[in-house]
Amino acid sequence: MTSNCSSKVIVAREAIEKLDGILEGYDKPICVTDLLLYEKYSKLVSSIVGEKLEWLIINDRIAKNTKSMIDADIILGFGGGRSIDQAKIMARDSHIEWISIPTAASHDGIASEVASVMHNGYRYSEKCKRPKLILADLDIMDDAPPHLRLSGLGDVISKASSLAEWRLARDYADEEYDSDVYATVEAALEAVLTNSSLEVLVGSVIDAGIAMSEFGSSRPCSGTEHAISHAMDRRNHNLHGIQVAFATPFSLHFMEQTDYGKYSPTEILRFMKREEMPVTFDEMDLTRELFLDDIDHAIRIMNKRNRYSVLKHVHAKHEDMLLAIEKVGY
Ligand SMILES: [Zn+2]
Repeated sequence: MTSNCSSKVIVAREAIEKLDGILEGYDKPICVTDLLLYEKYSKLVSSIVGEKLEWLIINDRIAKNTKSMIDADIILGFGGGRSIDQAKIMARDSHIEWISIPTAASHDGIASEVASVMHNGYRYSEKCKRPKLILADLDIMDDAPPHLRLSGLGDVISKASSLAEWRLARDYADEEYDSDVYATVEAALEAVLTNSSLEVLVGSVIDAGIAMSEFGSSRPCSGTEHAISHAMDRRNHNLHGIQVAFATPFSLHFMEQTDYGKYSPTEILRFMKREEMPVTFDEMDLTRELFLDDIDHAIRIMNKRNRYSVLKHVHAKHEDMLLAIEKVGY
């Protein structure tokens, strides 16, 4: 592990009420959020924190050079993906601390130091700064649109593929590995497979995000299935967790040909169907040809990042991929 100064975590109903005490000693807190959440929650949050709280409403685009944007002594990222990512980037650029207040459990980035940034049509990960605190209010998260919860479940179950591939990469490509981080992420995965309630899901996405930050790279939580999702992002397709989950059984199909697959594609598909996640090309508004092109692109992403892919390990050819697509039943 690269550091032992973990983020503090509070997961509770009405956790937001604690914000007043948490911000004691800070004079200029700024809260980054989007317009919808501002309209829904600004009264509540301002009534807890008081007049000193400033708001920064962001739109679709994440601003990159944020150093001159703020005059604050602590940043709150209040939202799902973009607001949290924006807070991370601002905290890094201005060298001040930030607090993650996720309003949905949609992906493990709510607890990590890595921001997802769009550049020239591609989404890529940028290392920022870990939050001082993760404050997860289960009442607020309960109120999030249901597809955001599905995305969170998807991001967690994708670890069935990323973890197996990480062990494969340790043994065949000498990639850096940490057994404590592995155990944490695996426990997060197991927890959700056994109980997909919001409370368990929130705990799992936070644990996975923190584990990733402590390891210093996304490798434990991101393998070929994530690279396929990054390739899908070229078309600005679907939610992160929905995409990585969709690609997971494909990757696990090949993992079964090694000694490293702990979870079968069938087992993960059963979970996805039970939760009513998209599992077919039709449900994903995708075609076999586009998916094959995404896989092709994903292999290039993995090579570029020096990450060992299960597809490389089994020397997967075009016809093997067609067979995998058929077997999974996309
Ligand atoms: Zn992810």
